[in-house]
Amino acid sequence: MNIILLGPPGAGKGTQAQRLVERHGMRQLSTGDMLRAAVKAETPVGLQAKAVMERGELVSDDIVSALIDAELAALDPAIGVIFDGYPRTAPQARSLDELLASHGRALDLVIELEVNEDALVERITGRFTCAGCGKGYHDTFERPAVDGVCDKCGSTEFKRRPDDNEETVRTRMVEYRAKTAPILPIYEARAIVRRVDGMADIDAVTAALERLIAG
Ligand code: ADP
Ligand code: ADP
Ligand code: ZN
Repeated sequence: MNIILLGPPGAGKGTQAQRLVERHGMRQLSTGDMLRAAVKAETPVGLQAKAVMERGELVSDDIVSALIDAELAALDPAIGVIFDGYPRTAPQARSLDELLASHGRALDLVIELEVNEDALVERITGRFTCAGCGKGYHDTFERPAVDGVCDKCGSTEFKRRPDDNEETVRTRMVEYRAKTAPILPIYEARAIVRRVDGMADIDAVTAALERLIAG
């Protein structure tokens, strides 16, 4: 199965993708994660993307599509993929069609996490991740069972993203509305869009996704 999780920043795409990976052995392909790794490693892509990401604007379509291409090329087509944060523009959606075809895959579902924009700033400003394994947390909504210790790997180091501040989130929401939400009709025309209430609690969202995946 190949699935796109769509929704504005803070909708819960990464959180849910991590859960689906654990339960179904799928692969999460997050262009945000790939770009952050490139920034950290100071690769040419990272050097180009850093300032754009700090402003909350979108990195160029060619860069992100090349990242996805490389990941798909290295992945057994039998392993299902969850696209998290890609595609984000109409040109990216077109590239994804081509990439899936060239790597022997088909798109099964586009799941939109519907959220109230008022909730997103609180979600984003409270977000943090484990520095050891990347598991996502939230100051209020998903705390580790033991304060300061990762549930999954036991690490005591956590990190926060430099772009997870209120000002940047506003820009990212504008980008989502202007460039990403308009790609939904492409998939609606193929009757593969499903909607999930992203305002429900994290477990309830996972349950709704499981139902969609089970068909
Ligand atoms: P995205 O990948 O869509 O930007 P995340 O999955 O990183 O969003 O979620 C943003 C923050 O909100 C994280 O800190 C996460 O723990 C929290 N979160 C995710 N889903 C929910 C939910 N359904 N209810 C409350 N908080 C949530
Ligand atoms: P979130 O889900 O919280 O919006 P991501 O981790 O998906 O954040 O993305 C962080 C930043 O990385 C974006 O604001 C953008 O600058 C860049 N980025 C990630 N994915 C893409 C993409 N598909 N196209 C363009 N830019 C992207
Ligand atoms: Zn961890």
